[in-house]
Amino acid sequence: MFQDLINEALETGRPYIKEGEVATYIPELGRADKNKLGISIFCRDGSRFSCGDTKDRFSIQSISKVISLAVALEVCGFDMVFENVGMEPSGDAFNSLIKLEGSNSHPYNPMINSGAIAVASFIEPKVSFEEMLKLARCFCQDDGIVLDEKVYGSEMSTVARNRAIAYLLESKGVINGNVEEALDFYVKMCSLSVTAESLAGLGLLLANDGVDPSGKRLLNSDTVRVVKTIMLTCGMYDRSGEFAVRVGIPSKSGVGGGILSCVGGRMGIGIYGPALDEKGNSIGGGYTLEYLSEHLNLHILDSADAKEA
Ligand code: GLN
Repeated sequence: MFQDLINEALETGRPYIKEGEVATYIPELGRADKNKLGISIFCRDGSRFSCGDTKDRFSIQSISKVISLAVALEVCGFDMVFENVGMEPSGDAFNSLIKLEGSNSHPYNPMINSGAIAVASFIEPKVSFEEMLKLARCFCQDDGIVLDEKVYGSEMSTVARNRAIAYLLESKGVINGNVEEALDFYVKMCSLSVTAESLAGLGLLLANDGVDPSGKRLLNSDTVRVVKTIMLTCGMYDRSGEFAVRVGIPSKSGVGGGILSCVGGRMGIGIYGPALDEKGNSIGGGYTLEYLSEHLNLHILDSADAKEA
């Protein structure tokens, strides 16, 4: 029954694939098969459901911003992070420099490139990339996560815009430590290879307040609450508002085609669908989630009691 609903959700999303395109500004991402689509759901009671291309590896891209924010909050603290990076949706593209130009301006939030490069610079002097890789494996319950060297090389060969952002941040005193090392750390985090299943694992950790399925606490409650709030308000780039209205599940997308979603206390959801809408979100994935949200009452502001009355 639940599996049927998931299959239906995926088939609702699939027709929209033709309206999307794979990302090509990082050449290696352009090699993805745009027709791929998959969804994995890990529930709190231990049950797991999958449909479609959920074993395919793809690069995590911007979804790594969630992992980096969580680690930064744990290691550097809330004040250090939010003294330097805002909490507001930007309304601009994820790689925009526009709002960084004004005097005194900081990155709008940690889910866009400028904010994530700043966050990378806070973490990098304290936590090595190798340690971040281990944490990512642990958070996602996936030992198969590795650095995709091809994506990393490809992204570094076209990194000019992110380098411009990084140096602009350095000129404003937002970068902590070495700017090139922060940039390298940021790009490596974006180049981690995951599957829809790994994202469902990460979603479940967030849905379960930072406690993994074995009962071990990996993240503090406060960290998880902050991360999920920022995902809800800023996780889908300049489509975050519309996504919050239509789907209402804290989520984060990446230009590799992934979407990470978490339904508090209930489940983690991972999506893979590399055909993107014009904002950089998986187009088939977005419609799949909208269907699921509607049919399972997953919207964060839905009141099940009021509906039944
Ligand atoms: N690595 C990508 C970039 O920096 C991440 C962007 C994304 O997934 N939106 O441009």
